[in-house]
Amino acid sequence: MATSTTHDFGRIDAQRLPELLRRMPKAELHMHIEGSLEPELIFALARRNGVSVPYADVEALRKAYAFSNLQSFLDIYYAGASVLLTEQDFYDMAWAYLQRAAADNVVHTEMFFDPQTHTARGVAVETVINGLHRACVDAQAQLGVSALLILCFLRHLSEREAFETLEQALPFRDKFIGVGLDSSELGHPPEKFAQVFARCRELGLRLVAHAGEEGPPAYVWSALDVLKVERIDHGVQSVKDPALMQRLAQDRIPLTVCPLSNLKLCVFPDLAQHNLGALLDAGLVATVNSDDPAYFGGYVNQNFTETFAATGLGARQAWQLAANSFEGSFIDASAKRAYMDRLDQVFATF
Ligand SMILES: [Zn+2]
Repeated sequence: MATSTTHDFGRIDAQRLPELLRRMPKAELHMHIEGSLEPELIFALARRNGVSVPYADVEALRKAYAFSNLQSFLDIYYAGASVLLTEQDFYDMAWAYLQRAAADNVVHTEMFFDPQTHTARGVAVETVINGLHRACVDAQAQLGVSALLILCFLRHLSEREAFETLEQALPFRDKFIGVGLDSSELGHPPEKFAQVFARCRELGLRLVAHAGEEGPPAYVWSALDVLKVERIDHGVQSVKDPALMQRLAQDRIPLTVCPLSNLKLCVFPDLAQHNLGALLDAGLVATVNSDDPAYFGGYVNQNFTETFAATGLGARQAWQLAANSFEGSFIDASAKRAYMDRLDQVFATF
């Protein structure tokens, strides 16, 4: 496998960076498929299903996307998801994202979905999973994008409800690769879900969890040591704890960082102050992702280009972030090598 020393990054000047960032192949490891619902699609699905949306039109809905914190976003996010009722709705939502991902040169994606957002409204888990999975199959065949699904438990609900969701989803075990933990972080530490994650681990599911987005480094520790997750979603608060930084670097625990989400939810006051560069400098397996792209101002390439423009990161970090995205993914070693070859090809000829 090539390393960052293979390339002469110095010959790629800042002007050509946006094009390089767009063109390099990458994996996306942190995006919630319900967060890719664009206002246009929300209204189209609302019409198709006879559901009313509490906003006059697309513009009014888009204007409501001014958030002050995670909770203010979640309130609108759950309202948007209420238009999803049929298997075709879930397919259409995922297909719209996968087409955008392909346009951004995302060659592999691991998409989160929140079954409880839908089962609470009377939509069956199988409706959700079958629609999303069919879009994943079509993405491989028609777009050349490999797409996998990760089931997320909503952490503001109870562990008992997470267990119920797991039971409902297990008949479709072959259609998702792992489980995660998302929604309101503060007040809902990872250890609240210790038992259900232990069960998922026994079942051979891959494990990830949101931690250290707004929450303290202690949440990252317990995600690692209690839940035994393989990846931390966000994790940007880890810089406050040098011992944690050392642990993350030493064990090569990937962090799925989402800069535009952090900006929109006021985790950082502006992008120039984002700590992505510091995470890379500390040797962490940090990656760039879009989180909820319809709500936070852009898909993955937008996250790359805006963050690089604001922080002054360069071609070396671009290569590292793409390489990290493949290393941090849940695909096998030979698939990772093949993607790394494609990445190195682009850098060698750019
Ligand atoms: Zn997220």
